Amino acid sequence: MPSAWLQRWMPEPPARCAVCGAWPARPLCEGCAARFGQAAHRCRRCALPLPAGVETCGACLREPPPLEACLAAVSYAYPWSGLVARFKFSGQPGWAGEFARRMAAIPGCTEELAHADMLLPMPLAPRRLAQRGFNQALLLARALDRPRTQARLLLRLRETGSQTALDRQARQANVGGAFGLDPLRARELRGAAVLLVDDVMTSGASLHAAARAVREAGASRVAAVVLARTGEA
Ligand SMILES: [Zn+2]
Ligand SMILES: [Zn+2]
Repeated sequence: MPSAWLQRWMPEPPARCAVCGAWPARPLCEGCAARFGQAAHRCRRCALPLPAGVETCGACLREPPPLEACLAAVSYAYPWSGLVARFKFSGQPGWAGEFARRMAAIPGCTEELAHADMLLPMPLAPRRLAQRGFNQALLLARALDRPRTQARLLLRLRETGSQTALDRQARQANVGGAFGLDPLRARELRGAAVLLVDDVMTSGASLHAAARAVREAGASRVAAVVLARTGEA
C-alpha cells in the first residue's frame, strides 16, 4: 500500500482499478467490469429493468415516451454512482472513455449509433458548465462518435432547479421549455435521426423535454443512450 502521503500526493494512481484496487488495470479492472457491469434486460422505451421476454413496460405502452428507444448500460448504484461522481465532480473527465465503452456495448447500441445522423449531448446550463469546466455528456458523446457529435445545436434555454425533490408531474413542469435548438442551425434537424447522450437518467423528464424540442425541429427519430439509469419511473 502506498503511504497516506503518497495517496494524497497521487490520489488517482492511473493503473489501479477504482473499485477493488487491483493493478495493473484500466480505470475499472476486467473482474469488476464483469461483476458490476452485467447488462440488465430493460424496457426499450424507458430503460427500466424488465423481466426477460418483455420488450416494453406497461407505463410506456400506456403513454409512449417521446424517445423511440432508450438504452442504459448500468443501474445507478454501487459502484457506478461513485464512479460517475468522480467523473463529474472530482475533475476526472478521463472516465469518459471507459464509460463510453460500456455504453457502446449495450445490446442495440451499435444499431442506434449506425442509424444516427448526429449525437446530441444533453446541454448544461451555462453557470453549471462554468462551475464544472466541462459537460460530461459532451465528453461521452465525443467518446462514442466524435465526428457526429454536435456540441452546440441543442441548447439549455434556462436553468432548472434540482429535480430530486419533485414528483413526476412537477419534474415535467420544471423542465418544460428548458431546451431549444440554435435557431441558426435548427434546420439541420429536419428529417435527421438523433441520438441524445447523457450520463445519468433519473425520471427521464429532461431527456423527454429535449426529445420533444428535437422533434418539433423536424427530427424523424429520437433515441437516447445513457450510462446509468436510476430505478425510478
Ligand atoms: Zn477491480
Ligand atoms: Zn418503459
